[in-house]
Amino acid sequence: MVTGGSSNKEVVNPKAIIHKRFGDKARYNVEEIQEFASNGCPGLAIPQKGPCLYRCCLELPEFSVVSDICKRKKEAMQSAAEKALEKLTDPPVEDPADQLISRLSYLFSNDFYSTCHPLSGHFRAALQREGHLNGLVPITVMCFFDSKLSNLCKSIKPEIESKPLEVMSMVMDAATRLSETVFTSKENFSLRRISPYPPEVIQSVEASCQQETYIKVIQVPYLVEENVKPSTLDVSSNKYYMDVIARGLGAADASMVMLSRSVGKASSETRLYFHAPKKDLEDGAFMNARASYLSGQIIYGDAILATIGYTWKSCDLFHEDVTSSTYYRLLMNKVPTGIYKLSREAVLVAELPARFGARSNWRGLLPRDILCTFARQHQLPEPVFSLVPAKDIEGPEEIYRCEVKLLSKGQDLILHCYPRDLFKKQSDAVQNASSKVISWLGDYLKKLSMQREDLTNGNGLDLDFYPEHISKELHFFSLVHKSWSGFEANSKKVQAFSDNVCSYNIQGPDSDIFPSNGCLVCVCYSVFLVTEGDKELLEKNEEFEFEFGSEAVIPDLEAVVAQTGVGQSAHFRVEMPPRELIFAASADLSRSLSLLSAGGCGLEYTTTLLRVTEPMEDRMEKAQFSPSLSKQRVNYAVGHIKESSATFLVDFGCGSGSLLDSLLDYPTSLERIIGVDISTKALARAAKTLHSKLSTSCNTQTPCSGIEYAQLLDGSITTFDSRVYGCDIGTCLEVIEHMSEDQATLFGNVVLSSFCPKLLIISTPNYEYNVILQKSAPQTPEDDMDDKNPTKPCKFRNFDHKFEWTREQFRIWASELSEKHNYDVEFSGVGGVDGVEPGFASQIAVFRRRSELPADKDSAAVPYKVVWDWKRTNGLEGHV
Ligand code: SAH
Ligand code: MG
Repeated sequence: MVTGGSSNKEVVNPKAIIHKRFGDKARYNVEEIQEFASNGCPGLAIPQKGPCLYRCCLELPEFSVVSDICKRKKEAMQSAAEKALEKLTDPPVEDPADQLISRLSYLFSNDFYSTCHPLSGHFRAALQREGHLNGLVPITVMCFFDSKLSNLCKSIKPEIESKPLEVMSMVMDAATRLSETVFTSKENFSLRRISPYPPEVIQSVEASCQQETYIKVIQVPYLVEENVKPSTLDVSSNKYYMDVIARGLGAADASMVMLSRSVGKASSETRLYFHAPKKDLEDGAFMNARASYLSGQIIYGDAILATIGYTWKSCDLFHEDVTSSTYYRLLMNKVPTGIYKLSREAVLVAELPARFGARSNWRGLLPRDILCTFARQHQLPEPVFSLVPAKDIEGPEEIYRCEVKLLSKGQDLILHCYPRDLFKKQSDAVQNASSKVISWLGDYLKKLSMQREDLTNGNGLDLDFYPEHISKELHFFSLVHKSWSGFEANSKKVQAFSDNVCSYNIQGPDSDIFPSNGCLVCVCYSVFLVTEGDKELLEKNEEFEFEFGSEAVIPDLEAVVAQTGVGQSAHFRVEMPPRELIFAASADLSRSLSLLSAGGCGLEYTTTLLRVTEPMEDRMEKAQFSPSLSKQRVNYAVGHIKESSATFLVDFGCGSGSLLDSLLDYPTSLERIIGVDISTKALARAAKTLHSKLSTSCNTQTPCSGIEYAQLLDGSITTFDSRVYGCDIGTCLEVIEHMSEDQATLFGNVVLSSFCPKLLIISTPNYEYNVILQKSAPQTPEDDMDDKNPTKPCKFRNFDHKFEWTREQFRIWASELSEKHNYDVEFSGVGGVDGVEPGFASQIAVFRRRSELPADKDSAAVPYKVVWDWKRTNGLEGHV
């Protein structure tokens, strides 16, 4: 709450006058527009990222007024004060019917003729019309562009709110009362000023020269089977553009043309133009589903999509070309996936990421903004975000949950999402909840376009959905998108290592730097539409950054990047995505269409990996330890391998194979090594490095020649597989914290009771050490950029971590497991010094089996998939 300030300067602004008269009795309430609803928790409104708008309510003893919406708080307060002054000095309110007549008479005045108003241009252009149309201004246009006029009609007769034809008749009737000055043309449904404008008025806004102007527009036939068609209109300055559009629609003149509200951006002049409905035309058979869907209002017959009109900014006609690509992009902009792809300017590459991990790794429009855009594109009210504070078990600070509600135009609940995830930062909670909603909406709409209307609820998610409140929109959606399989490119599952290394044509020397989950990856790419003898460039990006492992790009690109090192290039073909995506990317529809009709078409991608930014955890582990922490973990494991003369090792959660790879550099007793992981991308990378190392080193007698057999298996380490049973040594380095605590315990039970390794080494971060790591962390500008307090430790080292334990927590977990399964356990670690607070950076538990290996487990259990298999065969090797 702000009260009227007192200034000792002599100011005569409205606020100062109000203050003089009312003093502290004038109360100003400034509110942010589009703020988050605070749902019973005052003070939790989060300032939004974009420019904020304000509205001010001024309460005076007698009455209160609300200001216009302003960019600044001060302006809003002044605007409220001004309105209050008007009210204080206003004569008793005039009869709206009289106001309507005086408004009309103003519109036909000399003054209005020379203003910059979206309507005044039409008055000027009307003078260019020929014959009996000369000077006639269509009533449709007057009602459409002068909101005062239509608002007055509605205040006289509220029930005509949604009946534009009745509003127009009312204006027409009012005009007959101005018969001295305004001529009413009943046949043309238009009005004209009777006396000519004085020459000086006309000259004051005369166009400097008669320019030839052609604009590109798109014709949208009402028959969905017909493609949209590009066409060109001649809107040279000696013509009235509405007449030109009328001709394009087969209408007699401008008075028969109706306009939609703007489509796309709220401020755009892009509209659909269509023939005024004739009574007999109002039949579902003529409904234009695509035009209705784009505009959110029901449109009959053929339509024209064009960007043209007079604005507040200039007296000249504003226009831009609308191409087929514009049309397809407008369609994309109505679904969350499409909004995201467009925001990344990567229609053929970007995908809406599956989840919101960290703000610093998110590229493109943020989930919350995508949701707001979605609501706006469907003329729905702003989504309502409510933050619910909760107590943090780990500290005194508050943490938050966020709920989202999507409402219909009539304020009925459409969707309610109430995820249980807790966040330290309010904005993260909001982004997370928004991300769930948009992902869900994306999936829902995809199913709808495939005519599978079985999905009507949240499907076990924390989400309620009431589709009946947007049934009209959903109906249009399924009509328009019938042929789409959503906006996703063909998301076939990434294949195993052996076929795709070849099909991706990776070129250039391999480097040490390659991405793993959580890395930020930067690529350059080009996408071509190719047929046997021809190709067309569709999309190109010199620098495109995305978070690896978050499904932020098409699956093929992520698979390629998983196997390329920095500096390497690849090119590959994918199956055709929905045609509409191609059209949205294509600069030349007719050429794309002719290529597509040639058959045998495909999309060809060329990409180069430019750089990889590792997650903070990896950067810290490299920068603050020498040798790096991961190297120290490997050395630690090697020590145990040597000590125990192990021959069979299994690496649980081997990732991209850093441990297995390093083991090949040491002369050890190992003969058989197996890596298990659930990430096919990581396994593909592991296969690539192990394969090249084993095949070259076996010819050159380097240490690894002791290895007889190596295998990579795709599967979850919480599930038993007999091939991994009874190894001499099991390693599980920095894996458990990537699973939920329940899963980690399940793994502990499965590994000790079923896999039964003689020795098991488990490492995981020591949470207590984070203080040290983060104090001296090499921060990049991207790290926690929205964090107001950069010295505050981030919760975990890597946002993919589901937990990080203290020494005590780890000790309890490991001790309970060892007791239960008859193992001994010892604790150790790497990074830091034993016994010195706060312990090791990476804490390690070493389990030793007390008993003999139990009888062989169920050997039929082989759920893991073999991704890669290598056997020594007299210097020859083989792989699947
Ligand atoms: N041990 C590797 C990788 C650590 S990252 C190293 O030290 O470099 C954690 C790995 O655990 C990831 O590759 C992830 O895919 C894997 N992982 C997580 N949950 C798993 C599960 N249930 N089964 C198998 N692997 C899992
Ligand atoms: Mg980790």
